Amino acid sequence: MILFRTGAVSHAGMVRSVNQDTAYESMVLCAVADGMGGAAAGDVASRIAIDTLVKDFSTGNPTVEALQQGIETANSAVYLASLNDLSYAGMGTTLTAMAPVTGPDGDQVAIAHVGDSRCYLFANGQLRLLTNDHSVASELVRHGELTPAAAARHPQRHMLTRALGVDPAVDVEILLLPLAAGDRLLLCSDGLSNEVTAERMSAILETELDPTLAATALVNEANEHGARDNVTVLIVDVLVGDDGAETRDLEAIAPLATDLPVAEDVSDLTGSVTAFGAMAAGGAGATSIVDAVDNDPSAQASMPPSSAPEAKRKAAAAAATASGGAVEASIRRPRLITIRTLAFLLLVLGLTYGGYRFVGWFASTQYFVSTDGTHLTILQGQPGGTLWVSPVLVETTSTTTKQILTSRLRDLQSGVPEPSIKAARSFIANLKEEYQAAMNPGASLPTTTTTTTYAWVPQTYATTTVPATTVSTLPATTTSTTIATTVPTTTVPTTVPAG
Ligand code: MN
Repeated sequence: MILFRTGAVSHAGMVRSVNQDTAYESMVLCAVADGMGGAAAGDVASRIAIDTLVKDFSTGNPTVEALQQGIETANSAVYLASLNDLSYAGMGTTLTAMAPVTGPDGDQVAIAHVGDSRCYLFANGQLRLLTNDHSVASELVRHGELTPAAAARHPQRHMLTRALGVDPAVDVEILLLPLAAGDRLLLCSDGLSNEVTAERMSAILETELDPTLAATALVNEANEHGARDNVTVLIVDVLVGDDGAETRDLEAIAPLATDLPVAEDVSDLTGSVTAFGAMAAGGAGATSIVDAVDNDPSAQASMPPSSAPEAKRKAAAAAATASGGAVEASIRRPRLITIRTLAFLLLVLGLTYGGYRFVGWFASTQYFVSTDGTHLTILQGQPGGTLWVSPVLVETTSTTTKQILTSRLRDLQSGVPEPSIKAARSFIANLKEEYQAAMNPGASLPTTTTTTTYAWVPQTYATTTVPATTVSTLPATTTSTTIATTVPTTTVPTTVPAG
């Protein structure tokens, strides 16, 4: 039994206008995704990834396999979306997720990731980096070709060697971890780790005990450093941990997070901008996908097999290099976030979040009767859906469209609202009686027994904690209802001409 308390904050940062990060927090799953791609594609990718993972993971038992499967499903969803819409071509995202899982060894926490969004463990006052960045620079460090200090200044440190949604298959790295009460996990996008040192992270995690306040303080710290990228921080506080987690060997799990120098000087910044400058000019994400540098066979050996055309990746890298760094460099200026700005932001976040919850509530408070072409159906929600919330099929009744008056079909096709499922059922019963009365005028109405098949009502999973900044741009989900059109049969009275 593992119990958590979580807090998350996502911010566009001080330079970007769009936040392409997405975070999700719940008792059973927490995740951070950092999207990339032109125009609006980056935030679409990160949102599709998280939405799909949440939905997939919540359908079965929480196991490591389910988490891996969920991430693979998310990969397919992002990949398919990028194929189906030209404006999403080439989009992708990082994904770092953690979930308590059950298995033969009891309850543990699984941490799965693709890309360079990180997961840290803060335990006994010490910060440890649990994830390996799937980036060119980090791969070079792991292969001993680069010192960590040099990697922090490497021009290609933002270029990913793995990402979600760019290939039909994805290579997920998973770590199983025993957690003790008092542990804190920190999930973040590279917007935090590129701006804030491990030392500052530790200091904030040590002093800010509330997870949301700690996440806010970390985001503020990144913003004070100029936050050139979107910053997302999600903190998981372990209230009740694994049995026996106290005896674990932390050093064996991960070494202490070292204080890598954070890019500050202009020459370094120019380097980083040249490497990932596409987003400054074209709106692409901070991270681009490239294979390992060609002259490094050892790093290449570690790359996951890729079926994406080499040309596409080269083009992405070339585009990144081509667009200059002037745009971003000229607006790089550390700005302090004032209390007033913060209060305003929190107010906006609160209102957006409230609106989001209200729409979700409103969309599911009503039922309506419709038809699937052959049978009458009862759905929960608003006919046609409300913004991103689609109606849910609750019941396919045994009443067919042949058992009711054809004149009623048109209303049913657009959906007849009813306040409750009971009201919806009696409305259908009335339609049948009306039809029978019309067919046998004068006959006493027989007592009809309606056999109804009860469909399982899917639980709406708690999307409560998606940060408001990502919520505001959710696209409306379009529901396509296939309705068979039944042409009403009209009996034309034959008039016999008077001879
Ligand atoms: Mn980023």
